[in-house]
Amino acid sequence: TKQAGRNGFQLYCADMNERSMRQLKLENRLRIALSEQAFTLHYQPKIDIQRGEMIGVEALLRWQDPELGSIPPDEFIPLAEELGLIGDIGVWVINQACRQCRHWLDEGNRELKISINVSPQQLLRRDLTADISQALQQASIPARLLDLEITESCLIEDADAVADTLHQLRDQGASISMDDFGTGYSSLSLLKRIPLDNLKIDRSFVDGIGQDKNDAELVSTIILMAHNLGLKVIAEGVETPQQLDYLASLNCDQVQGYYFSKPQPATEIPALQHRDQWR
Ligand code: C2E
Ligand code: CA
Ligand code: CA
Ligand code: CA
Repeated sequence: TKQAGRNGFQLYCADMNERSMRQLKLENRLRIALSEQAFTLHYQPKIDIQRGEMIGVEALLRWQDPELGSIPPDEFIPLAEELGLIGDIGVWVINQACRQCRHWLDEGNRELKISINVSPQQLLRRDLTADISQALQQASIPARLLDLEITESCLIEDADAVADTLHQLRDQGASISMDDFGTGYSSLSLLKRIPLDNLKIDRSFVDGIGQDKNDAELVSTIILMAHNLGLKVIAEGVETPQQLDYLASLNCDQVQGYYFSKPQPATEIPALQHRDQWR
């Protein structure tokens, strides 16, 4: 405070270590990133295990700052949420993903479903339904090509309101996936209250397959439970053939991970899509 006077101020300055300086810089750059067109989307293939076919992609945000270099989303997404910037960034992501989807179709490629990550704030503080229908309309693509990845954390505050929005989106034709399943706080009873199509098993459990017996058991239990609830299961972070074999043996529906492909720039996706055998 002001009363702390000169000494207090000097103390504060001395405390401003490199980390908080970088944090401040990050904040300032992030505030202008949208207007400076510093964002791009990369796309990671999703593979249907049974068909051995790429059936969709997940859009993942990339930020390249001219001064700070490339900043990973795990660092800037939480910051964007904190600063209240995620709403506008989210709208950009939705529009960009829909435009890209249209572009691939115009090039004559097969239809690909596109998954978009949605932050809790987008579900709770914005008219997400309106944002999405506008984007779909402008790009002229059907809602069935859109999948929304939500996390358990969006159910903590107002699960009923979120459920309403998700019902609307689903009525339009989009599908809904629960991301990072198993890492949040939501209960199974909450899961039952929202409309869901897919459940994504978190990478941390997939990592343990072949190493940690408990993880393998958990994965098996999650797949059984999800199927019993009528959901499709997608495993993220698949890196080895052993993990794939185990997941296939449990009738996991889809897989995604470095074993198949890292997230790629949009221009790389058609060639991957035309590859005929993924397994
Ligand atoms: P996520 O939604 O769980 O995305 C999966 C993350 O795992 C991505 O990291 C992806 O590149 C990475 N990944 C995929 N396969 C593998 C693998 O086999 N091994 C390993 N080690 N990693 C793998 P990324 O792109 O750094 O994104 C991190 C997180 O940032 C995302 O986690 C998501 O929560 C958030 N995020 C990314 N883009 C957006 C966005 O457009 N909007 C929002 N709200 N969040 C986003
Ligand atoms: Ca995701
Ligand atoms: Ca995830
Ligand atoms: Ca994650």
